[in-house]
Amino acid sequence: MSLRFYDTSARQVREFSPLREGCASLYLCGATVQAPPHIGHIRSGVNFDILRRWLTHLGYEVTFCRNVTDIDDKIIATAAREGVPWWQVSERNQRAFTHAYDALGCLPPTVEPRATGHVPEMIELMRRLIDAGHAYPADDGSGDVYFDVGSYPAYGELSNQRPDQVVEAADTDRERDKRDPRDFALWKGAKPGEPSWETPWGRGRPGWHLECSAMATKYLGPSFDIHGGGLDLVFPHHENEQAQSRAAGDGFARYWLHNGLLAVGGEKMSKSLGNSLRIPQMLEKVRPVELRYYLGQAHYRSTIDYSDAALQEAASAYQRIEGFLTRAVEVLGEITPAAEVPEAFAEALDDDLGVSQALAVVHGHVREGNTALAAGGKERVRELASELRVMLGVLGLDPLSDQWASEGQGLREVVDALVAVALEQRQAARGRKDYAAADAIRDRLTEAGVVVEDTPQGPRWDLRRG
Ligand SMILES: [Zn+2]
Repeated sequence: MSLRFYDTSARQVREFSPLREGCASLYLCGATVQAPPHIGHIRSGVNFDILRRWLTHLGYEVTFCRNVTDIDDKIIATAAREGVPWWQVSERNQRAFTHAYDALGCLPPTVEPRATGHVPEMIELMRRLIDAGHAYPADDGSGDVYFDVGSYPAYGELSNQRPDQVVEAADTDRERDKRDPRDFALWKGAKPGEPSWETPWGRGRPGWHLECSAMATKYLGPSFDIHGGGLDLVFPHHENEQAQSRAAGDGFARYWLHNGLLAVGGEKMSKSLGNSLRIPQMLEKVRPVELRYYLGQAHYRSTIDYSDAALQEAASAYQRIEGFLTRAVEVLGEITPAAEVPEAFAEALDDDLGVSQALAVVHGHVREGNTALAAGGKERVRELASELRVMLGVLGLDPLSDQWASEGQGLREVVDALVAVALEQRQAARGRKDYAAADAIRDRLTEAGVVVEDTPQGPRWDLRRG
């Protein structure tokens, strides 16, 4: 079976056939940098990072564009409240997003354009739309420019709404001279004290929807393969992006992929809940790679209902994988990743990125690997471990990769040396049959969080987790 995705626009699973052979272009609506991210924001980054890694593994040359919306009402309001320029607010929040993506092992996008750096491209797109009769500047001289929904019969196609039943655009506090309540702002005329840029229709600032159309087209071309984003962006944001670009004559996205949202106790995330689920708070509970496992393990289209218990379960599941690979390396030395993933793993990811099924293959390998380890079947252990490494690499979860192996590596070596000294003393105590002293050494290590296990190959240790 070939690679296929659920396409929101077609409302069915479609085989993936790229615009250009061997290449895949991907646009993901990135952060609106109003505040630091919580895990609901970063989930989308993890889901699409897995997609990008799988496409790359399949041999596609991937161009991945993830934008930053660096100006909007909330950014301006926060800046005014703090008495700082708007760009300081976007700058610091963008850094928080970058740290979070990096911490969770999301590869940097090929390009990460910021909206305010693309005003000329937006002006050009507005001009094309106005010339084609699909947009108009407000007659009141406010500087607003609107998209004329009535002029574009395919409006509603993506979100499956009939044009006459489309919900009114909720993007404006300014009903200034809109011709139709469904019309949405491409450009927002300047209000006093707000940042603004010059256009042929007056000063103002970008509308959110226009930004993404302009940036996607600039970096990926008039037509590109995949447009991604959270399910909450289908309407109005993505509907409007598609309407603008197609009305202007561009093909725009050929597949629309949407990730599910994150809920807490079955409810949509509220602001206060979001605060407790910010990345630094989460990283006090689990390690970054475990958080990535948690966010990536569910199917990307499903809703994740957050709970601490589920997070800890995910961390334990990851530790089982890590534990096997660590032991395999202890027994066999270096293990290189296999060239190919097992067929069942490939089938799972080809089928609309079925990460949960793919992880079932991973855990099957871990179970079989542990059995082989216990039985001393070294060749089988090596085979399974090297297949594990390639699978985990695709998921961004390989504990032996440069990305994660260096995590605390320096400290680990120091602790390793110290524990070795303690274990030698314990051996010596046992040798002179001073079992009380030997036990005391082990107890002190346990207290310090070092768990010692006696194996036929001698004692091995690990840090106690959780
Ligand atoms: Zn967007």
